[in-house]
Amino acid sequence: MHEVTGWAAASPGAPIRPWTFARRDPRPQDVVVRLTHCGICATDRHAVGGGDPAAFPLVPGHEMVGEVVEVGAEATRFATGDPVAIGNIVDSCGVCPECRAGRENDCREFPTLTYGGADLVSGGITQGGWSTEYVVDERFLYAAPAGLDPAAVAPLLCAGVTTYAPLRRFGAAPGTTVGVVGVGGLGHLAIRFAHALGAETVAFTSTEAKGEAARGLGADDVVVTRDEKQMADQARRCDIVLDTTGAALDPAPYLNALAVDGTLVLAGIPPEALRLDPMSLIVGERRIAGTGSAGRPVTREMLEFCATHGIGADVEIVRPDGIDAALERLGRGDVRFRFSVDLT
Ligand SMILES: [Zn+2]
Ligand SMILES: [Zn+2]
Repeated sequence: MHEVTGWAAASPGAPIRPWTFARRDPRPQDVVVRLTHCGICATDRHAVGGGDPAAFPLVPGHEMVGEVVEVGAEATRFATGDPVAIGNIVDSCGVCPECRAGRENDCREFPTLTYGGADLVSGGITQGGWSTEYVVDERFLYAAPAGLDPAAVAPLLCAGVTTYAPLRRFGAAPGTTVGVVGVGGLGHLAIRFAHALGAETVAFTSTEAKGEAARGLGADDVVVTRDEKQMADQARRCDIVLDTTGAALDPAPYLNALAVDGTLVLAGIPPEALRLDPMSLIVGERRIAGTGSAGRPVTREMLEFCATHGIGADVEIVRPDGIDAALERLGRGDVRFRFSVDLT
């Protein structure tokens, strides 16, 4: 077995501490990656804060960047020294219709998550990227965009792909208008993507002070969501509204902001059920959709798009012994805009 150092919670709610554990020995199609950076996602905060005690010690982290240090005998796509990235899925059944369509995130057998997932071969539990090394099947390894700061690339693997995928799926392009709700870890990337895809980009924020930042990221316009008049004035403006807040927002003003055939996309998991007036969907023939990561083809496309357009996340870099403080700040929304753990 491969001994590595991880930064783990020993039990639900416990502080993050160094922990030595074993990765699987590389299989023929595996690649061993020495990690340099891993993002901190809201999912990580929820994962260490609660859940099944049997799943602990738990090493979170699913936005990884690093360098190939070992290649299995049958792995052909990567070579030692390649800059690479790993996201929140590390395996899937590979044969169901969704897997065959490149939508492994929707695998009917449920994909193997990067941490807390069941290894399809050994049955063991996967551990995440707040660690010195990761062993992964090369099918779920990606080339990291050259020329970008690896610390800024890491968050693309979850925050990036989660926002890029629905913008592409619902047709963000020149001549369309995209509304992005929230200017945070996901939202700041969504604004960059929407702008780079050529869409008119409107940032919706409850914090007036974030308007300036949103414009700097590429927003053409800023709407302050607490201003009811401003919100009402957005009627039928947007082809896509991407809600990145994960908050229990009233969907009504956002549905009203959708054009005919428009789509409200939820990127977070609101803490309570949505309540909506069916007429707000019927009038305008609108729809509501969800997003959470993506399959391999879209992930690859997103990374190539970022390389072409020079898009990375704005990150605050923390050392592993600063993860607890970062998690606490993340809980208050106090980060500009994503934490990236320096694992070197
Ligand atoms: Zn995530
Ligand atoms: Zn499948």
